[in-house]
Amino acid sequence: MSSQQKKLKIGNIEAAPGTKSHGFIKAGELPASDVLVPIYIINGSKPGPTLCVVAGVHPDEWQGMEAAVRVYNRVDPKKLTGTVISCPYQNLPGFQGNANIGDHGIGRPNLGSNPLDGTNLSHGYPGNNEGTISQRIAHVVYNQLVLKADYIMDLHAGDTWEKIVPMSWYWTVGNEKVDKVSESMAKSYPTDFIVSSPVKTDGSSLGIRECLNKGIPYVLSESGSVGLLEESTVNFHYTGVLNVMKHFKMLEGDPENVPNVQRIFEEVLSINATHGGFYTCMVDAGQKVSKGQVVAEVKTIFGEPLEKFESPVDGCVFFFRTWPPVMSGDMLLRIVYKIREERGIKKK
Ligand SMILES: [Zn+2]
Repeated sequence: MSSQQKKLKIGNIEAAPGTKSHGFIKAGELPASDVLVPIYIINGSKPGPTLCVVAGVHPDEWQGMEAAVRVYNRVDPKKLTGTVISCPYQNLPGFQGNANIGDHGIGRPNLGSNPLDGTNLSHGYPGNNEGTISQRIAHVVYNQLVLKADYIMDLHAGDTWEKIVPMSWYWTVGNEKVDKVSESMAKSYPTDFIVSSPVKTDGSSLGIRECLNKGIPYVLSESGSVGLLEESTVNFHYTGVLNVMKHFKMLEGDPENVPNVQRIFEEVLSINATHGGFYTCMVDAGQKVSKGQVVAEVKTIFGEPLEKFESPVDGCVFFFRTWPPVMSGDMLLRIVYKIREERGIKKK
């Protein structure tokens, strides 16, 4: 690391030391217009770590987008050590598609995907610059932001059909140094609800594994539900990002509102519908449940009971689907369990 902060250039977006800048990078083309990825840079006045903040991979999770934009607008580059590079709207086609909700259009398919190709961008890194539109967007974010970062923060929320507890989640990859830093980022959030999972070798955490294998610590946060842009839910993400920046000495001051004791859950299980029908959840996000407790049921459209679901463990509800119509195989809720209790990083 040199003693002088340098000018930063991503695509054709430039920021001199102590300034910020934003713009677009082209990822691909539609029949008559470009597919763009918005990029935001805060270049600090002093050299230091590079933090990458991404949000909006699921295009109806607005709380994280708003928080990431607030970070860009509110952090003073003159008081920043290092650099924040961000993409608050990774799935811009999805975000724009959601503007066209209409009076009764809420049930349209692929709400959490890229409407241009039906892909869930969350699984996208490293992407492919010769692939589909979603693969090209992922390729831009991965190469222009992720690979330039020392740390990654990925801001999510419950989709418009989910209620979720405010929490942070990190994945372990077996690299002790990376795992410890990811854990410290998760513990910097103003929550006592943390999940720690070994990263999977396939499926939903592929993109995360890609980052961790490159030695870049990664934390995902969830806050906000059912499309409500409540101030507390936006502030959860915003405080989390600022706390992580303080933790890494990018900003002065101590992390705020971090509980002294934080619960880290090490196991996650999902309860899925066997039958289609009208589903009701009997528990709330964050609620403790006991083994054998009935947590959800599915009825026929005539009101006849089809199946009741019991929690297989003593644990805590982490999220549940809020929309009653379900098909066979739909995920209804997730429960976390097996608590490892640890002190928070804040020692006062
Ligand atoms: Zn999400």
